[in-house]
Amino acid sequence: MAYVISDDCIMCGACEGECPVSAISAGDSKYVIDADTCIECGACAGVCPVSAPNAG
Ligand code: SF4
Ligand code: SF4
Repeated sequence: MAYVISDDCIMCGACEGECPVSAISAGDSKYVIDADTCIECGACAGVCPVSAPNAG
């Protein structure tokens, strides 16, 4: 399962540049992860200040 960003996201943008496969982009109210691209490395979860990305 790909990682999923919860509604806790405060749109700080920290995770986007950390993703090795560029699966993260800004959505309307939170950042979103492309499930088909995510390789489940966990890097986004490691940098998020509010623990919004979680393993789906
Ligand atoms: Fe990118 Fe890794 Fe987060 Fe998936 S788990 S979105 S590959 S940083
Ligand atoms: Fe949202 Fe966390 Fe990514 Fe910041 S690091 S944009 S709070 S998911």
